Amino acid sequence: MNHLYAPWRREYVTNKKSGCVFCDIAKDESHDEQNYVLYRDDCCFVVMNKYPYTAGHIMVIPLEHIDNIEHMDEKAWIHISRIVKKCVAMLKKEFRADGVNLGMNLGKGAGAGIAEHVHYHIMPRWIGDTNFITTIADTRVFSSDFKKIYDRLRKDIKNYVTND
Ligand SMILES: [Zn+2]
Repeated sequence: MNHLYAPWRREYVTNKKSGCVFCDIAKDESHDEQNYVLYRDDCCFVVMNKYPYTAGHIMVIPLEHIDNIEHMDEKAWIHISRIVKKCVAMLKKEFRADGVNLGMNLGKGAGAGIAEHVHYHIMPRWIGDTNFITTIADTRVFSSDFKKIYDRLRKDIKNYVTND
């Protein structure tokens, strides 16, 4: 029952008043597996989105709690961009994605679920997957596939993302 581990659910349960779910994950390396963290370094981490719009929907998130990109440290921004680039390469190759959606929802007005801590969404896409997405978008269930995808990506990511 790992999925009952608090951080992600808390966001939906407590109206986000009691801290930041991404900071909780950032600071708690010992629960990386429970939190589905794929990679981390001293600047950012890569994590599976537990409410995925497609299988393999991942996020790249700075360790720093910051709600905008304008004031993000320049080196951190460049580093994160490089990690994103490598993750895109990974999803294209390992998931045979026909395309990738990449983006950030900056601020509540842009539809950010967790506006207080910026995060990059990376979603692999396949031609003809639209119906599939409609089907799963509101389902938000944990399937055994989610864990399988995590285990697989956690291995794969080492071949793509390095802290260099
Ligand atoms: Zn935060």
